[in-house]
Amino acid sequence: MADRKQSPKRPLIFYYLISLAVLLIINAFVLPMFMRRQIMEVDYSTFLEALEENRVLKVEMSADGQELAYVALDSHGERQTYVTVLMPDPDLLTRLRSSGNVRFSRIKPVEPNPILTYLFSLVVPILLIFGLGRLFSSKLQTKMGDIMAFGKSNARIYLKAQTGKTFADVAGQDEAKEALKEIVDFLHDPEKYTRIGASLPKGALLVGPPGTGKTLLAQAVAGEAQVPFFSISGSEFVEMFVGLGAAKVRDLFKQAEEKAPCIVFIDEIDTIGKKRDQAGFSANDEREQTLNQLLTEMDGFDSRKGVVLLAATNRPESLDPALLRPGRFDRRIPVELPDLAGRIAILKVHARKVAMSPQVDLEAIARSTAGASGADLANIINEAALRAVRQGRNRVEQEDLEESVEVVIAGYQKKNAAISPKEKEIIAYHEIGHALVAAKQTNSAPVHKITIIPRTSGALGYTMQVEEDDRYLLTKEEAFARLATLTGGRAAEELVFNTATTGAANDIEQATRLARSMVTRYGMSDQFGMVALEQVTNPYLGGDTMLSCSSETAAEVDRAVMGLINKAHERAISILKDNMDKVHELARHLLAKETITGEEFMQILNA
Ligand code: ADP
Ligand code: MG
Ligand code: ZN
Repeated sequence: MADRKQSPKRPLIFYYLISLAVLLIINAFVLPMFMRRQIMEVDYSTFLEALEENRVLKVEMSADGQELAYVALDSHGERQTYVTVLMPDPDLLTRLRSSGNVRFSRIKPVEPNPILTYLFSLVVPILLIFGLGRLFSSKLQTKMGDIMAFGKSNARIYLKAQTGKTFADVAGQDEAKEALKEIVDFLHDPEKYTRIGASLPKGALLVGPPGTGKTLLAQAVAGEAQVPFFSISGSEFVEMFVGLGAAKVRDLFKQAEEKAPCIVFIDEIDTIGKKRDQAGFSANDEREQTLNQLLTEMDGFDSRKGVVLLAATNRPESLDPALLRPGRFDRRIPVELPDLAGRIAILKVHARKVAMSPQVDLEAIARSTAGASGADLANIINEAALRAVRQGRNRVEQEDLEESVEVVIAGYQKKNAAISPKEKEIIAYHEIGHALVAAKQTNSAPVHKITIIPRTSGALGYTMQVEEDDRYLLTKEEAFARLATLTGGRAAEELVFNTATTGAANDIEQATRLARSMVTRYGMSDQFGMVALEQVTNPYLGGDTMLSCSSETAAEVDRAVMGLINKAHERAISILKDNMDKVHELARHLLAKETITGEEFMQILNA
């Protein structure tokens, strides 16, 4: 990001020394020279000499008769004023008369003009100091400012020209862009919203894995909005001294309110927004104070004034729930890893910046980089350009790109982000398994999106496909259908690959929890009927349950749970077996596109 231009670092004393030196020069040389030119003090004898040589033009005696001022021609023949101490000289008048046409008098006391002296010895130097101060004032001010702003926020203001990023620089991420456009629109024309009483969310939280372009999106918002943009990274809040983080937050919001409409962007908010400890003794008091201040400020400001708060994090689960409450970061903008189309678009954006051979096939590169983030892709293009230079070429060829895919992917395969083609295939069948079992049981589109790209939500990262709307009442049949759907992923793996993978861990967990609740809490099992075997102990803190029955009963509960899951699994297997061609067709389609919509899914299924 562009930063404010820093003045060269020079100590304050430097400027004082310059001023002092100038003053001394004035006092020692300039001023006396100036004064000497006006009036020169000489001996009486010098006066008499000048008088004898007829150089004296005019003589004036001071009022008290102690001094004598005269104008005479100096050795260069120029008029010069002199003063001398008057000696008791009875012949003075005769001398004056005999020396040509000297005009003499005693009326005006000719002394060095006191006003002039005052002006030159005092006022001028003072003015000079002020002038110099002015001259350096900008530098001085920043210096002083930096000292005074100890504890103030380092928030930097970015304007359009400075970030230079717009939405055009962000490829893919259409949903995120759409959500952010509304915020930009609000800042352009707040009237439009306030007229009908709508107020925009105070805060929007960009959530997604690292390198997906969250920071980039925020910069683009700044570029598009053309309003002041305060940007600060969460880590900058974590200060050495207790209390400074909180002070920074306060200052940041004060500045923002003065500059409204504007955007405040807190990057990596998880560094300050971590869950506060429940225990009374906190090891991280400072961070907590900062977070508390942030919460207070968020409650305090009015979004109608036009301050919009943006934040980004790749660890939303670690955020303090208080931050996510309505009225705070009440809008979540998911920024997910790009799918095939997204990867092609990102590669294109970055390929514009380097010289590419026209033969380059970016789609092929995109196909081989499933699971790569935007940052990875930008890196691939850059690595390819570097390789081309090393090879002494002036254009990037396909082989450079292929080579750098290896380099970059090897880099992040360690991080476990990339998906191999074989894994992709298994994931595709797994997801189709879920979706098809769900669709066949309810006869409706199971989801609005099926994807094989890892997701932020969900333990293992793949969107589970069956985002049924939250229903308050679930019939026994529906609960069982949901169980079957949960086992559908594993069932597809077994049928197609004749093996099982770890990918179903989350499904198994969910299925077990649901089956258990069916038996112990909902009274949906044949064995137990309507006997509450479990109590929810703490409905607000996650809802832990406690079994309240004998250990023989507990063993029987386990058997009932297993029975339910097995039955559901069998149903999933039979549904998939009956529709095997569709399973293959859908999985192939999903493999090719990586993300398909619910409608697309139903179209193929019903074709
Ligand atoms: P995050 O903040 O989500 O970790 P960044 O915004 O810092 O990620 O992205 C890092 C870099 O990756 C960006 O500067 C950009 O070059 C590239 N990048 C990431 N996502 C995209 C995208 N959707 N379009 C274009 N470039 C992207
Ligand atoms: Mg970032
Ligand atoms: Zn699954």
